[in-house]
Amino acid sequence: MSEPKDLSYILTHLGEDRSQYFDAVIPPIVQSAMFAHPNVATMRTRVADEFASHVYTRGQNPTVEIVAKKIAALEGAEAALMFGSGAAAMAAAALSVLRAGEEVLCVDKPYAWTRTLVKSHLQRFGVNGRLLDACDPAEVAAAITDKTRLIILESPNSLTFEQQDLAAIAKIAKARGIITLLDNSFATPLGQSAIELGIDLVAHSATKYLNGHSDVLAGVVAGSEKLIREMFHGPYMTLGAILSPHDAWLLLRGLRTLPVRLKQIAETTETVLRYLEQHPKVARVYSPWASSYSQFGLTQQQLRHGSGLLSIELKIDRVEQVDHFVDRLDRFLIAASWGGYESLVFPVAGVRNWPSLDFPASVPVGLIRFSIGLESSDVLIADLEQAFQVM
Ligand SMILES: *Cc1c(COP(=O)(O)O)cnc(C)c1O
Repeated sequence: MSEPKDLSYILTHLGEDRSQYFDAVIPPIVQSAMFAHPNVATMRTRVADEFASHVYTRGQNPTVEIVAKKIAALEGAEAALMFGSGAAAMAAAALSVLRAGEEVLCVDKPYAWTRTLVKSHLQRFGVNGRLLDACDPAEVAAAITDKTRLIILESPNSLTFEQQDLAAIAKIAKARGIITLLDNSFATPLGQSAIELGIDLVAHSATKYLNGHSDVLAGVVAGSEKLIREMFHGPYMTLGAILSPHDAWLLLRGLRTLPVRLKQIAETTETVLRYLEQHPKVARVYSPWASSYSQFGLTQQQLRHGSGLLSIELKIDRVEQVDHFVDRLDRFLIAASWGGYESLVFPVAGVRNWPSLDFPASVPVGLIRFSIGLESSDVLIADLEQAFQVM
């Protein structure tokens, strides 16, 4: 697969018309709720096509649009909409496509709130949600019924990293007129080009790598102009889960350095991964690049480069030993989320009792996920080693 076209142009110039704002190098934060029209005729024209005009910031806003254009270009998509979170992006995409009486198929270990969306919220509106493993495209083909309208994929997922064959599933779905929606947060548009593989809608939690600085919640959905326009006039304007101009500006700042951050993070993570794989106190390492990973064929087929996420299971007899190990770590902050400049550790044992966070039973309670940041691998490995010593 090819990298997105002229990455440098997209990140540095695309969507930025500096003549509109005093030739400033950096675009302004257009912190305005609404836009004034020079006369009634112009107002009439603009409201007739609000998707392509500036009327009200719950619709389009110039600062937010710059980020949307860049991410659409990175994904090779015609258009994109920004949201106030990744969860909002996934929910709006699903609500835009589905009608009562229809059915959605979803991978069985997606991000927890995607699972909740499919299993409980959509059911309340008469949409049947079915979870399936989806590692084998034939299983997806067999699960499709006349009612199936949407297939939600997440490849790889962000905890145990199962993948789906995107091209194969997209082909099966297209033949039946079914829309496919992929959560591409793990790989980013630089690591995986899903539109090119035939996926219709690609969503991200831009809170993760796209922003990369752990200071903004944001989401995005990219796809054809037709699907994105439908989403705009439907759940986007109705729910109003928008990204504020200020947060869009911060996201733009983070996005500029995406390739260098990912390159550094992938390199460090590879070193940490190999260290963990040979460690006598580690029972199993989870990563699409782990030696024991059973879907390495898909890694080679779909993913262009590494990421900073990996999980381990320790050799332990009691779950409390997870607490001991994690509490001892000094350079990894204990926190949910991932994709920032700073390394994090996320023990599943610490969130099992999180109300309405519904982990599938197949996720081991002893699982510990790391998000590797921009620190040096020496520092991180030394920290892990001292924590292993006290276990
Ligand atoms: C974090 C995350 C989300 C949700 O994004 P928010 O920005 O936190 O709402 C969705 N999918 C994946 C894979 C995530 O990691």
